[in-house]
Amino acid sequence: MFTLISLPYSAEALQPVISSETIAFHHGKHLQTYVDNLNRLIEGTEYASMSLEEIVRSSQGGIFNNAGQILNHNLYFTQFAPVAQHSEPSEGLAITTALILNFGSVEQFKAEFEKAGTTLFGSGWVWLSADKDGKLFITQESNANNPLTKDLRPLLTMDVWEHAYYLDYQNRRAAHLQALWSIINWSEINRRYIG
Ligand code: MN
Repeated sequence: MFTLISLPYSAEALQPVISSETIAFHHGKHLQTYVDNLNRLIEGTEYASMSLEEIVRSSQGGIFNNAGQILNHNLYFTQFAPVAQHSEPSEGLAITTALILNFGSVEQFKAEFEKAGTTLFGSGWVWLSADKDGKLFITQESNANNPLTKDLRPLLTMDVWEHAYYLDYQNRRAAHLQALWSIINWSEINRRYIG
């Protein structure tokens, strides 16, 4: 049985970047529905004893879609920190060194990441991931996909399904993505990178 993750911050803590109303629907309704659907679909199957990552690597169809969306949202919601605790990729973090090595600068990385997010057609996710050698990649993944299906380790993501931003930003996806940088918890992204 999978359960809905608890948020490591209050529902109001990400305002005005993400409203408490969006958190209530996105975490409390959308993610809860994926959890309920997956539990129903895997009951009595070989998947019932697997981790989310194992299910995403080995399933298709409805089981893949719901497991992928839970994994994606768990990584998404746990990468944020309250607006009041704003951080940037700082000197001395391994992820900062890697961003500069792979993209030229932190600003160049952010620009490429935002472009990948705004140009992704339809519903999906834009990801920063690392391969086994620590090389970084930005990928666009449609619907419920996660870069671990490409043997990459997911580090940071932005959800470009409309449910992630429509209440707060309506059609302004680019503005939403740009605003998200101010709530990224870079010590968490670094922890995932050095994992
Ligand atoms: Mn979502």
